[in-house]
Amino acid sequence: MLNAEILCVGTELLIGDIVNTNAAFLSRRLAALGINVYHHTVVGDNTQRLTDCLKAALLRSDIVVMTGGLGPTYDDMTKETVALHFGLEMECHMPSLQKIENFFNRLGKPMTDNNKKQALIPKGAIVFDNDYGTAPGLCVEKDGKVVILLPGPPREMQPMFCQEVEPYLSKFSNGCIVSKNVNIFGMGESSVENALCDIMKNAKNPSLATYVNDGEVRIRISALANTKKQALELIDPYIQQVKNALGSSVYGVDVNTLEQALVEKLSQNKLTIAICESCTGGLISKRITDVPGSSAVFGFGLCTYANAAKIKMLGVKSDTLEKYGAVSAQVASEMAQGLLELSGADIAISTTGIAGPGGGSTEKPVGLVYVGCACKHKVTTHKLLLCRNNNKQRSYIRSLAASNALKIAFDKAVELTEKSKNG
Ligand code: ATP
Repeated sequence: MLNAEILCVGTELLIGDIVNTNAAFLSRRLAALGINVYHHTVVGDNTQRLTDCLKAALLRSDIVVMTGGLGPTYDDMTKETVALHFGLEMECHMPSLQKIENFFNRLGKPMTDNNKKQALIPKGAIVFDNDYGTAPGLCVEKDGKVVILLPGPPREMQPMFCQEVEPYLSKFSNGCIVSKNVNIFGMGESSVENALCDIMKNAKNPSLATYVNDGEVRIRISALANTKKQALELIDPYIQQVKNALGSSVYGVDVNTLEQALVEKLSQNKLTIAICESCTGGLISKRITDVPGSSAVFGFGLCTYANAAKIKMLGVKSDTLEKYGAVSAQVASEMAQGLLELSGADIAISTTGIAGPGGGSTEKPVGLVYVGCACKHKVTTHKLLLCRNNNKQRSYIRSLAASNALKIAFDKAVELTEKSKNG
């Protein structure tokens, strides 16, 4: 199997002004083609250092994919460096020049001379059209090596890679890697790894890896096979094993977000949900309405931040507020019950908590959140302790409270679905 490596050019990457998302994107896509990526390199806009990196990369790898430095300015020197390395002259690629001229005509702006530089290519290079910018992508095949040059901006590079480079590279790929992601919420990464320890240790093909993001864990199961179908056949038993080991913490496979999983579950089972929020201030409603088609399952989203709003809109008793305080299981419960009645939804969710930085006490610390969940004949409350001592703690607590509430709603939707199936 061929080896590839990625060489990203740009001083702004080196000094940390921008994150190297191109390398992550390219690695994922190359892996999906069954092409191994063994190195990522970042180098500044400096001809000598770029030449050194290119030489080193070509000694190690069959394919070098470069991004950045294809623009019109003097510090854009990627293709000149590649041409020099292979002893190729630069020549004008007329269709690209025409495209660049058309681009400036459309804008009604004069084309400066340095823009013509973007149409210069190493002699004999394959040209990839740039539908979203002016610098074409290039591919030089020489001495048994392949060098692919792509523009830096991701919005130009990504469509070019998918539409033109992938079909080109498929001739080098003798298998495909397929990945499936198991979505998990409510368990930390170390608990997940602990529970999956034996499965992960023994898995070679497919291989399993854990990823953490915003309080969620994702297990990526990747298999290499001759065809996509064969790869999926290798993966499926592992998905089942992960589900068996982690139980209800698994909320989906290849689902983008918790809210998407929730909206899908509700829609499939013709259930509706309503939300009333105190400490999350509308975040849960926002996340549900981010999902296209959510109007079929969601109609009521209230932000009842003040006690007066909880009393007036949800019928929370003043006595309860006085006796237990706004941040209490009792208030969360009355909020959810009030909302269930008001909205007529199948599931009503409430949140009340202390997002900080102030307002905490020993009894009720910052990060204490109650989620209420009401459905016909039943209301439950869930106590969460979400404190993190960092300067983003307020947004962290609110965001995690919203995620927990979405997972509680998802579990309730699963429970109601099971109940109705079993009559
Ligand atoms: P341009 O014609 O815009 O100059 P270029 O091919 O010369 O394109 P660069 O000048 O190197 O590309 O980068 C342009 C912009 O693209 C950067 O300022 C940055 O925003 C983005 N970019 C470049 N490289 C990367 C990368 N590896 N990851 C993410 N973004 C990148």
